[in-house]
Amino acid sequence: MASGQQHDRATCWLALPYGLVWWPWLGPVGALTSGLAFLIGGLWLSPDLDTNSRPYQRWGPLRWLWWPYRKFLRHRSLLSHTPVLGSAVRLIYVGGLIAGLAWLLNPWGAPHPQAMLQRLEQCWQQQRGLSLALLIGVEASAWLHLIQDGDPLPRLPRVLKRRQRRRHTLKW
Ligand SMILES: [Zn+2]
Repeated sequence: MASGQQHDRATCWLALPYGLVWWPWLGPVGALTSGLAFLIGGLWLSPDLDTNSRPYQRWGPLRWLWWPYRKFLRHRSLLSHTPVLGSAVRLIYVGGLIAGLAWLLNPWGAPHPQAMLQRLEQCWQQQRGLSLALLIGVEASAWLHLIQDGDPLPRLPRVLKRRQRRRHTLKW
């Protein structure tokens, strides 16, 4: 398994070439969007937010926002270290946090979560290419993380593990 420093270094080194790959399809804005998504995905939205890691510490005074995520997911669990599913859970989690915060601050002028959702839908309709580049950038950085860990398969949840062990002992 790679160290936090190795994960950070690989993310920073690969963000630029990764972004440039998108240039022929989406131009300089697309290259910038995908490179930044890759960087943010690796440094701030890493699968290792499920433990006291560098990405977790990087959130600084806001790191408590990830405390429930850390509390309920074991390190390298199915919901944090599975391709696609891990990024989806983290993006939904961040979306939920932003929506909750917007709802709380709505009386003081923050946009209502419903309005934010509509804006997001609009972006998806009008900027499909950039939206995809953003999502794929975050996912690509998660793949880099899982490949670096050397074991792309996450740990089985305890219940499944117990069941597997029982089946194994029955066989023998
Ligand atoms: Zn990891």
